[in-house]
Amino acid sequence: MLTSDKFHDECGVVAIFSHPEAEKLAYLGLHALQHRGQESAGIATSDGLTSRMHKAMGLVADIFTEEVLSKIPGTLAIGHTRYSTAGDSALLNAQPILVQSNKGTIAIAHNGNLVNALRVRARLESQGSIFQANSDTEVIVHLIALSREQTLPEAIGDALRQVEGAFSLVMMSLDRIIAARDPRGFRPLAMGRIPAPKGQTRDTIVFASETCAFDLIGASYERDVKPGEIVVVGPEGVSSHFYSSNRPQSSCIFEHVYFSRPDSVVFERAVQSSREELGRQLAREAPVEADVVVPVPDSGVTAAVGYAAESGIPFRFGLIRNHYVGRTFIEPSQSVRDFGVKLKLNPVRSLLEGKRVVLIDDSIVRGTTSKKIVRMIRSAGAREVHMRISCPPTISPCYYGVDTPSKNQLIAANKSIEEIRDYIGADSLAYLSLSGLKRACGEGGKTSYCSACYTGNYPTEIIDVEEILPASARR
Ligand code: AMP
Repeated sequence: MLTSDKFHDECGVVAIFSHPEAEKLAYLGLHALQHRGQESAGIATSDGLTSRMHKAMGLVADIFTEEVLSKIPGTLAIGHTRYSTAGDSALLNAQPILVQSNKGTIAIAHNGNLVNALRVRARLESQGSIFQANSDTEVIVHLIALSREQTLPEAIGDALRQVEGAFSLVMMSLDRIIAARDPRGFRPLAMGRIPAPKGQTRDTIVFASETCAFDLIGASYERDVKPGEIVVVGPEGVSSHFYSSNRPQSSCIFEHVYFSRPDSVVFERAVQSSREELGRQLAREAPVEADVVVPVPDSGVTAAVGYAAESGIPFRFGLIRNHYVGRTFIEPSQSVRDFGVKLKLNPVRSLLEGKRVVLIDDSIVRGTTSKKIVRMIRSAGAREVHMRISCPPTISPCYYGVDTPSKNQLIAANKSIEEIRDYIGADSLAYLSLSGLKRACGEGGKTSYCSACYTGNYPTEIIDVEEILPASARR
């Protein structure tokens, strides 16, 4: 059964068309997208005749050894990396999904969440469909197989018209790569190209959630897959189809706030510029007299650079992050206060002692990390700690593919800003305004964003959750 907590997953996707070592490019692409999901990863390949796949739990670099990659050679590949809250069945839900269907071989990898998967699945099950796991992506595979349309792109369009929500998809048949995006363009999906080497005629066409994947494999960014578009890349070349009429664009603003890498271009905008502008805007909206601006690494770094530049207060790395923290650590039996956070972050006493500190982070979710970090900065001798958050209070869960806890665990949904300040133990606390956030991320013109996590106004119906939860538990 799908349950509401299965909706929360974060993913990255990549696809390679026509390269003698497509599996290796997919592997490198996934490596660059590792921040989008660290639980499982997989690659499916085709050499034109045979499809192969390997997926497992863990990090990309650990799963894909030289030996594993040598077993899945191909000229076409798609890859997926995933973090999900799904428990035991996590490997079963890992992607890509590879099936043999009446439309031939289909492999699919999905970033985003459908909001009507339960309802569609119930309909399909009543017609006799059998599901292997509980990911919403499997619903799309069934709809493609059941479509009466003759060609694969038409069947995909038919399937995608029946689902609602967020989906950036890469798919592979034996000889084609197909990329598609939902009509509102919630999650990013970029297309790039590696020019054919001398003597060869065909360029390699690539797709990825973020352009930082292109940088690693030497591809140049060409354009985004547009909301409502299906791009088919095959032996005949590249073609574009629109399966859906235009809907208002609702690209996820949290990609710019936190989720994407700052070296990526997402929704045709450099994440770095958005994030630095978030910090500048925050300094204009919520100034404070202080001696140093300190980021919570890594999520607060770029906004802190902006805050420091705008305010004229010096930027300092007052917290140092240990990048080599795995999933579990053995804790001494006499437990250490804030052990989890201390494993990851340590304050620099010589920088903080006696100082009035502006502490910058991108968001407060449950508030537990912020509380520990503020305590840590104080214990390193800071005189004052002023917390500044580079987005508005997070008051509503995301149903479109960003992992967020339920509303009753979101501190800002349940406490006032003053109560949060008191809870985290800061001398002052301020968040960026919604209008400041949108301005910093370049809203206007072609771009409009989904900011449901800050407003509770969802651009779609949330059909599945409405069906799972009793009315009293909604919103
Ligand atoms: P919390 O202790 O729950 O308030 O956690 C806040 C921290 O979680 C901040 O440093 C954020 O950068 C980070 N964060 C925010 N959203 C997410 C997310 N969807 N997944 C993982 N980390 C997040």
